[in-house]
Amino acid sequence: MKIFSCEEHVGHALDMFVALEKDFPIMDRLQENEQNNEKCEYCAEQATYIVANK
Ligand SMILES: [Zn+2]
Repeated sequence: MKIFSCEEHVGHALDMFVALEKDFPIMDRLQENEQNNEKCEYCAEQATYIVANK
């Protein structure tokens, strides 16, 4: 799974990831050209981070 998150909600995104996936998340900062396309899952801000398992 992949969770997009803003700076404020990245902690929550990590918690949700672990709860849902039972796996260690990998957190990456989005490239600037990607930030424009993705919104935070938990608010209306642009996403800054992606939490995923690779
Ligand atoms: Zn947010």
